[in-house]
Amino acid sequence: MPRSFYFDHQATTPVDPRVLEAMLPYLKDRFGNAASKSHRFGFEAAAAVKHAREQVARAFGCDPLEVVFTSGSTEGINLGLKGLAALAGDGRKHFITAPTEHPAVLDTLAFLESKGFEVTRLGVDSEGSIDPEELRASITDRTLAIALMAANNEIGTRHPLAEIGAICADRGVTFFCDATQGVGKFDFDVRREGIHLASFSGHKLYAPKGVGALYVRRSNPRVDIEPLFHGGGHEHGYRSGTLAVPSIVALGKACELALDDLAAESARLTRQRERLKAILVSGLDEVTFHGHPEFRLPGNLSVAFRYVEGEALMSDLDDVALSSGSACNSASAEPSHVLAAIGLDPAMAHSTLRFGIGRSTTDEEIEIVGARVVESVQRLREMSPLYELAKRRTGDDH
Ligand code: PLP
Repeated sequence: MPRSFYFDHQATTPVDPRVLEAMLPYLKDRFGNAASKSHRFGFEAAAAVKHAREQVARAFGCDPLEVVFTSGSTEGINLGLKGLAALAGDGRKHFITAPTEHPAVLDTLAFLESKGFEVTRLGVDSEGSIDPEELRASITDRTLAIALMAANNEIGTRHPLAEIGAICADRGVTFFCDATQGVGKFDFDVRREGIHLASFSGHKLYAPKGVGALYVRRSNPRVDIEPLFHGGGHEHGYRSGTLAVPSIVALGKACELALDDLAAESARLTRQRERLKAILVSGLDEVTFHGHPEFRLPGNLSVAFRYVEGEALMSDLDDVALSSGSACNSASAEPSHVLAAIGLDPAMAHSTLRFGIGRSTTDEEIEIVGARVVESVQRLREMSPLYELAKRRTGDDH
């Protein structure tokens, strides 16, 4: 098989072999239903879920009773935001968010808007950061919740969660955090950050697709949400449906592994990202890096190669798995909403590629991929009349 390079870890991650090993028995002999209270199969499954709940709680920084297993972040986001909205009194019908959030948040809030809620979308600067003072000023007596993410999946910028949490506490507003790119990626703690609801997905953290968790705060203050699914009353009534035991076991193991190695992995990813950046900068002119330079997701590098179409570059690099924006958006040819929100014109947005470095990325891969990208961009630019023209212009200026 020809060698290929996976640089798309913000879209999804491979299942860690240790995670697979942990979940396999629950796909084979230990197949019990965690709700079966009358035999060994049920007890085994329930014990495994309990253990996984504790592992996930540690990754959130919460009590195990505050963990609700879901099918993934999109479900957690819908459950959290619609669940809050359903119990909101008439006076509290206002949400605040930012235009760089994931579509799972933006579309859910747009849906609520169509049902009579009001949504304020804060501005972001050219790095994708919000202004906490603008956030504070946007809160009114009608504000129910603020929905802001831990880290952006396209450009990597993190939000100052503790500062946002303090503003929310001060004003008695619920803080919902889409922590899909936060849990297990850097030091994240719902209590310390003052978060009331937070969602993430296993497949961003080396567990399989189709499992995730929602944190629902039980005290100081208790947060209540209305369920989306009704049925057997599983997950404290918040999410009925037979638990996906093997996937939940995998999610727990994935959280444990991520926490065990958090500081070292984050340092390694940062070093590899900076090395990739250095290779691109030394080999090419006209490259622009997006997102905050330091307060960011370690394994993400979003970069525009001016005068080169991202799609053309991706086809030239056909053995490197990359994304031209959010994976969730890649079916559409529209420039990414995140890149538009940070002020990129459509040409720059279309010249942008996202490199997602992850657990299995080696230093050798960084060198190979970096050199391949430099070579491809140079080749494509040689064929670009716009680049030639720009170069001639810069030459004329000197
Ligand atoms: N939020 C963020 C920041 C994401 O990156 C993603 C996935 O790309 C989601 C939400 C949705 O997660 P899922 O597709 O696993 O439900």
